[in-house]
Amino acid sequence: MTATANSHKPFIIPIFLPHAGCPHRCVFCDQSSITGVPSKRPPKDIRAQIEAFLTFKTARRKRVQIAFFGGNFLGMPADIIKRLLAEAAEYVTTGRVNSIRFSTRPDTIDLQRLDWIKDFPVKTIELGVQSMDEQVLSTTRRGHGAAETEKAIEHLKKLNYEIGVQLMVGLPEDTPERAIASALQVARLKPDFIRIYPTVVLAGSPLAAWYRKGNYVPLSLEEAVRQVKNLYLLFKKKNIAVIRMGLQASEDLEKGSRVLAGPYHPAFGHLVYSEISLDLAVAQIESSALNTDSISIRVNSRDVSKLRGLRNRNIEILKKKFNFETVLLKADDTLAQDQIIVSSTHSNSN
Ligand code: SF4
Repeated sequence: MTATANSHKPFIIPIFLPHAGCPHRCVFCDQSSITGVPSKRPPKDIRAQIEAFLTFKTARRKRVQIAFFGGNFLGMPADIIKRLLAEAAEYVTTGRVNSIRFSTRPDTIDLQRLDWIKDFPVKTIELGVQSMDEQVLSTTRRGHGAAETEKAIEHLKKLNYEIGVQLMVGLPEDTPERAIASALQVARLKPDFIRIYPTVVLAGSPLAAWYRKGNYVPLSLEEAVRQVKNLYLLFKKKNIAVIRMGLQASEDLEKGSRVLAGPYHPAFGHLVYSEISLDLAVAQIESSALNTDSISIRVNSRDVSKLRGLRNRNIEILKKKFNFETVLLKADDTLAQDQIIVSSTHSNSN
């Protein structure tokens, strides 16, 4: 992860509000599966949850945010939005929390709702954009188009909110080209950070029925990693931090009972970083033109596990691809992250 991404990493106190404020069910979504919290009315009082989380905060984590996730925050009635924000704001007033964040649909960002929240210490707003492709948006029954996302980001920028965008790959009707085109459109809007989720078939989602009837085929894990990697690299080039790739592992997702099919992996982000490291190593080896059957690769210690890959996968790939007998990985903290130095461990090399 880059330093830019880390700067977006506050200590989060999550308040899950599964499907609260959702106008309907988007085909891919089942927040109860994702959050492990059953859908119900927003809690009467969130203070107990906040207090419990504050006991986990370590001194190292400086910035603290209360986060309302799992629904369409600004789709709820004004009185509930204001009550939840007021309870969270008490913690900001007393200095125990720095600010508030929430996730909401792009089509809920309008002047009236922004007026409801303007007196509360909301810093970050995450938009569930998912795609900028009109075909994908209508097939997944989002109920809004790309223009709403453009307008929403424009409004939020004017008011200086920190803006996050959630994107998905592998949605029905999506293609690698459409995913890239979506990402480019989003990058042009210059949000502050991105989350990328590969579509998985969640048990309680409408997509589950499509999948069972054979009307939807999810991406393979390999293809999902490839597509997410391409999006990650695109945003990196545009200097936009990608703070998460893949669903957060939860007990329910881990048990496998909630994911019917699709590219779910508890360490999805790690798989993407490993692919990127592998590509870098391959390029380095090819350009070094070493005449040897034994090499060592030096990387920053923080890159060692990425380059190794899960269960040594990348090392095995490199051995096979270049006919190496040994590939030694060495940590070298004089190197910057993502820097790779390849050398021969035999004297007959050039
Ligand atoms: S994607 Fe967002 S708006 Fe759609 S059902 Fe899920 S939480 Fe609600």
